[in-house]
Amino acid sequence: MTLRYTIDQFRTDYPNDDACLDKIFQLRFKGLICPKCESTKEFTRVKNRRSYQCPNCSQQVYPTKDTVFEKTTTPLTYWFYAIFLQTTTRNGVAAKELERQLNVCYKTALRMSHQIKILMANNRLGKLTGKVQVDESYFGMKFDNMHSKKRATYYNEDGTRNDNKAGVMGFVTDDKKVIFEVMDDTKTFKERVRKHVDPSAILVTDSHLGYKGLDINYLKHEVINHLQNEFKRGEFHTNGIENAWSNLKRTIKGTHIHVSVKYLQLYADEVAFRLMNKDKQDIMFDTILSHVA
Ligand SMILES: [Zn+2]
Repeated sequence: MTLRYTIDQFRTDYPNDDACLDKIFQLRFKGLICPKCESTKEFTRVKNRRSYQCPNCSQQVYPTKDTVFEKTTTPLTYWFYAIFLQTTTRNGVAAKELERQLNVCYKTALRMSHQIKILMANNRLGKLTGKVQVDESYFGMKFDNMHSKKRATYYNEDGTRNDNKAGVMGFVTDDKKVIFEVMDDTKTFKERVRKHVDPSAILVTDSHLGYKGLDINYLKHEVINHLQNEFKRGEFHTNGIENAWSNLKRTIKGTHIHVSVKYLQLYADEVAFRLMNKDKQDIMFDTILSHVA
């Protein structure tokens, strides 16, 4: 049986704002040595304020400072519950649902939803190593995913260029690390690959010309020729990235109706986080919150 972090456990852990603040304090300032007097005595909570102080010199620290929780009048318990909800569903919770469950206005719900995605995205993966599958996909206004085979049809049905389409480059490793990057015109495919993948890696891509020549930068570059219906060559395949695309497509189409290109990176980051933490629901809440630190 897989372990789960349940709503009962959540309620026991975070019954009020004080408990939430304590958690943030622990995450950010556990074992803090006072920056003013260098005392190692544990900081204590200042009553009725969102701060803790040094028992020796009264120097104060503010756990929510420089975090998503800093400039918010929304109770911390609401934030924590919104994060908890994110761990209970496969494709995430829409702002509409937060609005309903928390009884806050839609604007607040949407802001919370975006801020929590930023927390989920903050994963400090570093450069990818091992076998790394790389591919790109294009998403339109309605985010209908077009397979890379159809990327030549980067146009509307009447032949005009569709400026509301955004390209995303995706990276998936054998140990299931996932990165999505929304593309603009500032970098070539190769520059993006070099930004995210360590030279010691073995690259697996399709035969798009944008990847051609990367073999000189990498240990190896395996090209799977999708156009000739090749999807696997020996131990090399692109199943991981294909699976990542279908998750991104499902999340955007299924849960979030009005996603603008502006927020595509946020949604993509959330999907990447979910793919990487799929079987870790029991610690997902702590993982998301730990990105506050
Ligand atoms: Zn002190």
